[in-house]
Amino acid sequence: MKKHRVIVWFRQDLRLHDNEALTDALKNGEEVLPVYVFDERVFKGQTRFGFPKTGKYRCQFIIESVRDLRENLRKLGSDLYIRIGKPEEEIFEIARTAKSSWVFCNRERTEEEVEVQDALERKLWSVGQEVRFSRGKMLYYTADLPFPVTHTPDIFTHFRKEVEKFVPIREVLPTPTKEDFQTVSIDLPLGDIPSIKDFEHEPFTPDTRSVIPFKGGETEGLKRLQYYLWDSDLVQNYKETRNGLMGGDYSSKFSPWLSQGCLSPKMIYAEIKRYEQERTKNESTYWLFFELLWRDFFRLMGKKYENKIFQKSGTKGTLTHDLKNDPQLLQVWIEGRTGVPFIDANMRELSQTGFMSNRGRQNVASFLVKDLTVNWQMGADYFESMLLDYDPCSNYGNWNYVAGVGSDPRENRYFNILAQAKKYDPKGQYVKLWLPELANLPSDIIHRPDIISAKQESALGFHLGEHYPKSMVNTERWV
Ligand SMILES: Cc1cc2nc3c(=O)[nH]c(=O)nc-3n(C[C@H](O)[C@H](O)[C@H](O)COP(=O)(O)OP(=O)(O)OC[C@H]3O[C@@H](n4cnc5c(N)ncnc54)[C@H](O)[C@@H]3O)c2cc1C
Repeated sequence: MKKHRVIVWFRQDLRLHDNEALTDALKNGEEVLPVYVFDERVFKGQTRFGFPKTGKYRCQFIIESVRDLRENLRKLGSDLYIRIGKPEEEIFEIARTAKSSWVFCNRERTEEEVEVQDALERKLWSVGQEVRFSRGKMLYYTADLPFPVTHTPDIFTHFRKEVEKFVPIREVLPTPTKEDFQTVSIDLPLGDIPSIKDFEHEPFTPDTRSVIPFKGGETEGLKRLQYYLWDSDLVQNYKETRNGLMGGDYSSKFSPWLSQGCLSPKMIYAEIKRYEQERTKNESTYWLFFELLWRDFFRLMGKKYENKIFQKSGTKGTLTHDLKNDPQLLQVWIEGRTGVPFIDANMRELSQTGFMSNRGRQNVASFLVKDLTVNWQMGADYFESMLLDYDPCSNYGNWNYVAGVGSDPRENRYFNILAQAKKYDPKGQYVKLWLPELANLPSDIIHRPDIISAKQESALGFHLGEHYPKSMVNTERWV
């Protein structure tokens, strides 16, 4: 009998566990060729407003993830073919040379990714081959939902109530073993793992203030899962700590691994359930699941509204106030020079590590849109470039939400930055970590250096406007 040779195209699913495309490929083909393509448009291109499409932190993280995937495949007697170029061309070439039958991949749903998979599909048809799509992004399968995707409730709470009690989450697919792979007798160059220099980034030394030293790959993602649940029991207090700002322990930090698919959300869910059975079940263990539901929700909003999530008027389709494209204001915000310490500290953490807490993200986004009245798309675009955990639906969905053009049921939600800073950073420790120029300011004025007295200025040798910028907004609005 003729053997089927198939390709499995790894995309944002850089893992062996719970990987439906890989599972399907192994089921349907005797010889499986795993491939990853560094898409030159994604790794060398620019965003709409001119930032590198994949900033250096995420670029490094993805390279590490691909390396880990190759090592893990090699342990099973397989390997990973690596290319740099356009997936629709590179994979097509491999498919043609290898005379494969099918290319298996997990389907993506946002415009750029869909264009690539469609282009590959069309090319493969010309040589009698096909793309076979699997799913692997969410906790839920759309087929299991009690509503069609196009009727997904627009309000998170409604969505949650319709799914969490009634829709079962499917089991984690088993990780393949050596026995699942057969030797592939084909002479194709494997391709080297690139370095970030290949994508026009300079190598960097990670900032020691980073919440954790993020390292890409399934191995590290699973370690983090093991740590956050089983080794530290931190999950038991997640609900109380999740609004923190500093250090590795206040929240799970799963997001970078989730966004590249190094960790599967179903795997996290299964581990939470096991933890609840074997150790403790409380509000916090539930809350981690609750947050994962937000991820599914935004993914479904992306499916339902397609490109609207990227448009200025968002999924709602209406803009309530005028937002300007102001590159100068944007730049001040990016560099953390607004003169509002809580905003500046968060923005510097992002530019120096690629990460920012959820609390921070909400505040800086609100400040950009509601206080500086800058077009939210510019902020989202910068996040797209910089975030280690960038995910199109989660990023644009959250920006839609904060900008009031998405699924927030509350009209005109506004963050009082000073109140937020005092609540979540009462002693100003976070601000001092990222803004060392404010290190000597007493805690009663750390979040409002604009009210420093002349006497204090000369006693501290600190001069507003010289050592730290004057606030670009009137902070009285928050008092
Ligand atoms: C303006 C803005 C932009 C954002 N952009 C992204 C993005 O590009 N990628 C991304 O993964 N998250 C994004 N988030 C959501 C959230 O800030 C991060 O998921 C979270 O901070 C990651 O840290 P964690 O893994 O420790 O989260 P935890 O608090 O431990 O939560 C566990 C997981 O739940 C999911 N989750 C939690 N909150 C949200 C949320 N609001 N929306 C979607 N998923 C959520 C994440 O997958 C997260 O890893 C954004 C939030 C805002 C306000």
